[in-house]
Amino acid sequence: GRPGCECNACFAGPDCSLRTPDCTADANSGNPLFLEPYWRRHASAGAVVVSGWHRMSYTTTDGHGLFQSIELERQIRRLHSAVGNAVVDDKHVVFAAGSIQLINALVHALSPDADAASPPARVVATAPYYPTYRTQTKMFDGREYRWGGTTALWGNASRNSTDGFIEFVTSPNNPDAQLYKPVLGGSAAVIVDHAYYWPHFTHIPAPADEDVMMFTMSKPSGHAGSRFGWALIRDQDVAKRANKYVQDSIMGASRDTQLRMLGIVKVMLANLHGEEDIFAFGHGVMRTRWRRLNAVVSRSRRISLQKMAPAYCTYFKRIRDPSPAYAWVKCEREEDEDCHEAMLKAKINTRPGVLNEASSRYTRISLLKSDDDFEALMERVTDLVNAERYDA
Ligand code: PMP
Repeated sequence: GRPGCECNACFAGPDCSLRTPDCTADANSGNPLFLEPYWRRHASAGAVVVSGWHRMSYTTTDGHGLFQSIELERQIRRLHSAVGNAVVDDKHVVFAAGSIQLINALVHALSPDADAASPPARVVATAPYYPTYRTQTKMFDGREYRWGGTTALWGNASRNSTDGFIEFVTSPNNPDAQLYKPVLGGSAAVIVDHAYYWPHFTHIPAPADEDVMMFTMSKPSGHAGSRFGWALIRDQDVAKRANKYVQDSIMGASRDTQLRMLGIVKVMLANLHGEEDIFAFGHGVMRTRWRRLNAVVSRSRRISLQKMAPAYCTYFKRIRDPSPAYAWVKCEREEDEDCHEAMLKAKINTRPGVLNEASSRYTRISLLKSDDDFEALMERVTDLVNAERYDA
C-alpha cells in the first residue's frame, strides 16, 4: 500500500491497496511515480520544511537580487558532471517552471526580433514527436515564429536552405525512446530536449554538448509537480533572451520550488554510485518493467513493441539492459487500424500515436507510473495476448 496516495480507477481504500475488478488500466500519462518508493525510503533526507516567514521575497537570498539560486545552479552543474550526461562548463543555465515553459522561451530566444526584416522562424520536429512542441508553438504563432510541421516536409540541407528553421529533437525520444539526432542540418537552429537523458531511461554514450539543451527535474527525480526545468545554452545572447522570457512571464521559477529542488539534488548527489544510487534504483525498476512487458508481448501476433538493444553506459561503466520510459505499441492486425481504440477495448488506456503525427496504428504505453499501475497494466496485456489463442 501507499499511505497518502491518490488512487486511480484500478485501486481503492486509504492506501490504494484494494483492487477494483474490471477496471481500465491507465498507461496514458508520463507521471513518473516509479520513483515514489525511492523517496519514501529517503523521506527525511529529501524533506524541506519552510516556515511561514521564510522566503517571502521576490528574489532569492543567495542570488544578489536575482530570481535564480546560485547554489541550486551549482548543484545542478555538479549533477551533470557526476552523471556525465552533459557538458556544463561552457554553458549558461536558465531555470523555468518545468521544461514545458522552456519550449516557448527557447523558440523565442532563437527567433528573429518581431520588428526584424527577416521572415518568421519555422519550428519543426520529426514524427513521432512530443506534441507540446506543436501545441505551444501554435498557441503563439505570429511575427517571430510559426509551427512548420514535420521535418519530412522540408528535407535536409543538401536539398533546401535551412535558414530560419528551429528543429526540436528529443533524445531519447518521447514516444519511441530512440536517441535521435537533428535531420535538417545546415544553418537550422536545434533545441535538444534531454528530458530522458538520464541513466534510468537510457545508456549514456557521451556527455551531451549541443548549443541549446532542455532538461527537467520531472523525470530524473520524479518531482513532476514541482514544475522545475532548466536550459543549458552556449551562446550568451540566446541565454539572455530565454532568461528575459521567463522573467517577463513569471518573474523566475518559484523560490519554494528552487528550495525543494536543492534538497532533492543534494540527496541524489550524496548517493551516487552507492547502495542507494537513484539511477541504479530507477534503471532496476524500468529494466524489469520493460523485460516483463516484452516477455508477454513477444507471444503476440497482434501487437509489437519498438526494438531496443543493450548498450554500453559511461555512467554504470558496463553494458546495460534497455529501460525505456515508454513502449511504442504497433497494432499488426488489419482491423486494428486504430490501435488506441483496440487497446481501450482490451481495457488499457494509452496515448494515441496520431498526437505525435504518427499513424493511428501506433499508440504509447507509459512505463513510468506507480508499481500498482504497472501491475494492472500487465494483467490487462496478459489477458489480451492470452485471448489471441482463442481467436479464429
Ligand atoms: N519534454 C518531454 C520530451 C517530455 O516528455 C516532457 C514531459 N512529459 C516535457 C518535456 C515536459 O516536462 P516538464 O514540463 O514536467 O518539465
